[in-house]
Amino acid sequence: MAISTPNPKIAQVYTTAAEAYTTRNPTSHSIHTTALHSLPGGNTRTVLHYAPFPLSITHAQNATLHSADKHAYTDFLGEYTAGLYGHSHPAITSALKAAIEKGLSFGSQHEDEALLAKAITSRFEAIDLVRFTNSGTEATLMALAAAKHLTQKSKILVFSGAYHGGAFSFKAGVSSPVNAPHEYLIARYNSLESVRELVEAPENRGDLAAIIVEPMIGSGGAIPGSLDFLQGLREVANERGAVLVFDEVMTSRLYDGSGVQGILPSDSRPDLMTLGKWIGGGMSFGAFGGKREIMEMFDPRKGEGSLAHAGTFNNNVLTMAAGRVGLEEVFTPAKARELHERGERLRGGLNEVGSGTLMKWTGLGSIMNVTFTTTPVGEIKCPEDFGEPVAGLGDLLHLFLLERGYYMARRGFVSLSLALTDEDLAGFVDAVREFVIEHKALLTSN
Ligand code: PMP
Repeated sequence: MAISTPNPKIAQVYTTAAEAYTTRNPTSHSIHTTALHSLPGGNTRTVLHYAPFPLSITHAQNATLHSADKHAYTDFLGEYTAGLYGHSHPAITSALKAAIEKGLSFGSQHEDEALLAKAITSRFEAIDLVRFTNSGTEATLMALAAAKHLTQKSKILVFSGAYHGGAFSFKAGVSSPVNAPHEYLIARYNSLESVRELVEAPENRGDLAAIIVEPMIGSGGAIPGSLDFLQGLREVANERGAVLVFDEVMTSRLYDGSGVQGILPSDSRPDLMTLGKWIGGGMSFGAFGGKREIMEMFDPRKGEGSLAHAGTFNNNVLTMAAGRVGLEEVFTPAKARELHERGERLRGGLNEVGSGTLMKWTGLGSIMNVTFTTTPVGEIKCPEDFGEPVAGLGDLLHLFLLERGYYMARRGFVSLSLALTDEDLAGFVDAVREFVIEHKALLTSN
């Protein structure tokens, strides 16, 4: 999915928009300039960088972000799915306050970790036993290490365009130079043929440790995996004696809040799952879990025979408290279904607005992504199907929406929080409609 340079017409409109943005956000600009002195590019989380400089947010409430320049933004990014509860859900904030009152950093086990684990194992059928980490990236590290140890094999099958954390990124079919040094086989998403071709190649046949898959490609453009594809992966993993890992760090919020594994028949479920983001209630979080016989490798009662899994903050009191209340009291299956349906309606509305243009919204439930491409939405099955997205239009939409008070990711990613109201959703669709009307010429010709 290579991005080329914008055509001169788009570049010209973008330059004007970027100048207006700079004039409107002098304080954010100055904070960015200060950050440049001590952070490379003024940044410590690559995905948050965008040109001409990112906004600086000072505080947030419900679904509204407030910037250093005193502008308010309705939050449609939802912290890349981690912000499911919004910025100040009363149940979450009071759980956090209560946890703070009881003291931090015990260096000990405590009841909330057992209760959060129970809430997770009760909700996700694929998870008999679970362990916590500080991030989704760590969860991937541990799940793949467990798979390699269990199978005593070394190759990991991943998908082009997949993202399983900062050390597991496979944009455009290429393993990032900062990836964890496993031997990866990179297949095409939603294509069982490409999976079979790789795993049946003589050099790989006896050496497949794991298949790891996002049931919907998230960061790579919100492309759902078909149920046939996911079930087919289960069959391939069975045939090859490999561990099937579902990365549901993002997708665990979908359907009734038990992710895509929750809608699959029990014999198609994965061996291991990774979780993260919203399940920590907005605090740092990751988890890996699954079949008892695999997870028991981490049982420390086995002494030297057990696999070690460390992490100073794995059971930190804030995450355990917020996560537990969120799962038990707030994001009930009924709430989850409602949010999923709201997301489906929103995506439908956005695609209606974009109909006949290059603007295509892909996704599932409350997670979606916009790409400017000639490929019809229904034909997008893997990131390669985007072709070469038209450069610059996403940047332009981003600045256009910021100017109208809507916050989303520069790369087109949107995830809904429980705090968004129907008016917020309608306002977002109206703003996108204005964009389409104002830039119709750029969006229909290229
Ligand atoms: N897996 C998926 C599918 C993700 O989307 C992400 C984060 N975007 C991760 C893993 C990594 O999670 P974290 O950022 O907490 O390390």
